[in-house]
This record gives sequence, C-alpha cells and structure tokens, in this order.
Amino acid sequence: MKRALFLIPFALLFIISAGCDRVKVQTDNSENQQLISSVMTQESQTEMTTNEILNDLLEGNRRFVKNSLNLRNLPAQVKATTSGQFPKAVILSCIDSRVPVELVFDQGIGDIFVARVAGNVENEDVLGSIEYSVGVAGSKLIMVLGHESCGAVKSAVKKLDVGSENVTFLLNQIEPAILSIAGERDYKDKNYLADVIKSNVKLTIEDIRKRSAIVRNLEAEGKIQIVGAYYNLHDGSVSLLE
Ligand SMILES: [Zn+2]
Repeated sequence: MKRALFLIPFALLFIISAGCDRVKVQTDNSENQQLISSVMTQESQTEMTTNEILNDLLEGNRRFVKNSLNLRNLPAQVKATTSGQFPKAVILSCIDSRVPVELVFDQGIGDIFVARVAGNVENEDVLGSIEYSVGVAGSKLIMVLGHESCGAVKSAVKKLDVGSENVTFLLNQIEPAILSIAGERDYKDKNYLADVIKSNVKLTIEDIRKRSAIVRNLEAEGKIQIVGAYYNLHDGSVSLLE
C-alpha cells in the first residue's frame, strides 16, 4: 500500500505531461498548416482552366499518396456551401470501397461531383448527372476513373451469374471492353484484366461523347475536357490514360 501511494505522484505527472503533449501537438498542427475553410465559388469556377483543374486533382492525388492531405475546417466548408455549389469537376468512378474519390484527390466539400456505379459505366442516369454537372452547374472536367483489380470487370470477364437480371444487365455493359482486348478470357491474368479495365474507361468516354450532345458541344467549344484515369490499388496513385 505504501509503495502504491509512493507511485501516485509519478502517475499524476505522467498523466499531466501526456495531456500537455496532446495539446501541444494540436497547437503545432494548426500553426504549421492552416485549415482550409474556403470553398469553390462561381468566380473560382469561372477562372480555373480545364488544365488547372486537372492539375489540381493530380496534385491532390500526390498529397494522398504522400499521406499529407490538406487540413480542412469541414464544418466551415459545410456552412460556406449551404446556399450553393460550384464544383470544378465531375468524376465517374466505380463503387469500390478502396477508391474513396474525394480522399484520393484530396478534395473538400463542394469541390467535385462524384457519380459511382460498379464498373464505372455510363447509363441514362449517369449521363443525366454528368450533363447536369457540366451543362447546368458549370463543372469543366469530366474524369472516368477505372481502378486496378476491379471486381465488376473481373465478374464480367468470368461471366458471373448470380441469378439476378440486374447484375447481368450491369455486367453486360462491360462486355464491349472485354471483346476489344485480344487474348484468353482469363480474369486471373493481371495484365489482361488491366487492359480490359483501361479499355472499359476509354469505351465509357466514347459512349458519353456519342450519347450526349451537351457534352459533345461543350467539348467542341473547348469549354470542358474529358479524361480517363486509372487508380493503382498498391500505392493509391492515379495515372492518366492516353
Ligand atoms: Zn471496380
């Protein structure tokens, strides 16, 4: 008992100093890196060129890879976007849980539109969402983002049948990408699968152009840019597709 009493001051000292450390770390963070509370405005959306927007996303991805995401005052951004939004880009991505789009590009509240569907294919709803983004809300960049080892593409290569016409309908939309790549239909062949995934991105972009007059016209006028990209599951990096 005596020994336990003797230890109490040391324990208190430890608790106090640990508490101080935590406070100090927070202070250091806020001193070294300012929290971002500003958001996209109509002016910033108008001023940014399509190239600047693309570079902004790629720089954000480099921060993501280096684990040095910008610190944001999210409640302040929520407040600042209450009355409207002026996102710079719309990204069509897969639903894959390993590709959290805003995080991958280090974007905050009101920065980008994100449409997600397994296998990042376009359909009427996705097209309507993209047209709303660029035609009504003023976004200037359309990115279709495929990713390594995509389960939807794998399942389409496998001709997975789970007895659901909805799943079959979805997977059938990936079939043209499979047919576009020579070689054995082998989902275990990583290079073959990557080729199909990249072709699927390119065909999705072609289909968006084919099926949307709004997108076609804005692109012809040089007001928007459309790019394809590929997310690497191993290191979190995004590379642009030609
Ligand atoms: Zn996927």
